[in-house]
Amino acid sequence: MAKHLMLICGPCSAESEEQVLETARLLKEYVSPDYFRAGIWKPRTRPDSFEGIGERGLAWMQCVQAETGIPVITEVANASHIEIIAKYGFKAFWIGARTVANPFSVQEIAEAAKGGDFKVFIKNPTNPDIDLWCGAIERFKKIGFDDIIAVCRGFYPFAETKLRNLPCWEIPIELARRMPDIKIICDPSHIAGDKEYIGEIAQQAIDLNMAGLMIESHCCPGNALSDSRQQLTPLEVKQLLDSLKIKCSSVSDRDYEVEMEMFRNKIDVLDYQLLDILKQRFAITNEIGKIKKSHNVAVLQIDRWKKVLESRCEYAGRLGLSQELVAALFSEIHKESIREQGEKR
Ligand code: PEP
Ligand code: MN
Repeated sequence: MAKHLMLICGPCSAESEEQVLETARLLKEYVSPDYFRAGIWKPRTRPDSFEGIGERGLAWMQCVQAETGIPVITEVANASHIEIIAKYGFKAFWIGARTVANPFSVQEIAEAAKGGDFKVFIKNPTNPDIDLWCGAIERFKKIGFDDIIAVCRGFYPFAETKLRNLPCWEIPIELARRMPDIKIICDPSHIAGDKEYIGEIAQQAIDLNMAGLMIESHCCPGNALSDSRQQLTPLEVKQLLDSLKIKCSSVSDRDYEVEMEMFRNKIDVLDYQLLDILKQRFAITNEIGKIKKSHNVAVLQIDRWKKVLESRCEYAGRLGLSQELVAALFSEIHKESIREQGEKR
């Protein structure tokens, strides 16, 4: 059975009472999300952009909650925002990527929220720093929050890419390894930056067993005051969700378990063999290091390295392995050999 995905939908920003209510009604009809989102205070990269409608938007969202029964959620960026959303009956908030990058702000928000009945969503910081993300989660845990959900919204790409932010999936995978009790959901809208790519990013997140999606949706995306290119209509959200191949996280099927166990045992054996071989390889490069040292020869021998890299990539190609993977693997191994040989000089 396909698992239930947590779904958070709504516009990037609350803009007017009609826009918020109309979007929420359509979302309820088409996808019935678990939360209705809208930004009230918008952290914009540049001044003079639309910076959010402010407190009056919270009253509109309160109407959404009362009318549709969908719980509402918004972004907070400082302690006073917590007090204000509490007045409007919010039971959930998220901390945005720019705020998560500032531990002072995260601590201040956590202390203001202390003792409150909030579900806390913490986006990844804009820079690919896993410790900063974990640190923000830890600050809330230490204050006494258990109900924390991490939101993967991608990382600043530093170069022109088709995506607005890079998913860097290895980072949420590492977060899941370090903090297995934290649910992770994906915000494919801010990764994609353009509605054309939201589906493929959402599918990748599902394939990584993420627990849900935060998708920006606007009743009339063309008129949106922020992030208009990446917002879907509620109907498009439904179409996107229908197109996803949703996998279950595990099954309780005896045959499946026996088969997986057999293959995983084989993988375990091969992994240990790989490590044994690596150990032997480093023992030899260390011997080579000693010979270079006794003959006063430089550690880096670029011609030999070129030949090693080319021949291994060529062989990888013949085996049908990814040459990029093999190049990256050997570059790491070579870097370590050079480091060790240099250290022992
Ligand atoms: C948002 O969700 O509208 C938003 C501003 O997100 P982020 O902090 O991920 O940029
Ligand atoms: Mn947005």
